[in-house]
This record gives sequence, C-alpha cells and structure tokens, in this order.
Amino acid sequence: MSQESEKVGLCFGCRHARVVTTARGGSFYLCQLSASDPSFAKYPQLPVMHCRGYRAMAEEADASGADE
Ligand code: SF4
Repeated sequence: MSQESEKVGLCFGCRHARVVTTARGGSFYLCQLSASDPSFAKYPQLPVMHCRGYRAMAEEADASGADE
C-alpha cells in the first residue's frame, strides 16, 4: 500500500471519490455520494476505515461489452 492510500483509507480506491486539488497545492477527497445521500459527508474525515458506500473502482473494469 502506498502512503497515500494509508492516509486516505477506503476513499483512495472508491469510485465515488473525487480528488479536489486546491490552489495552494493541497488535495482532499470529495465523496460524490453526498450529493444524493446526505448521510455521507461531502468531505469525509480521513482515513475512512469503514464505509457502506464504498465501491471499488476495479469493478468498473469488469464490465464486458460496455459501450465506449
Ligand atoms: S462512498 Fe465512502 S469510501 Fe467512497 S468516497 Fe464516499 S466516503 Fe469515501
């Protein structure tokens, strides 16, 4: 595991996460599930160790026959 993934936890590999980079060069994770479900924090406190909304990014790559 990289240092980044240890600091971030589940959001690091979650398809709902979006990395937002600030003008000062910092970055934070935005949980896109928060837009449709207010029980998710928009900016989760990291590291996230447990999350019922977590979906691995890799699952998307399995979709065979998907339109490009
Ligand atoms: S669903 Fe959970 S793991 Fe995924 S980005 Fe949101 S808070 Fe992080």
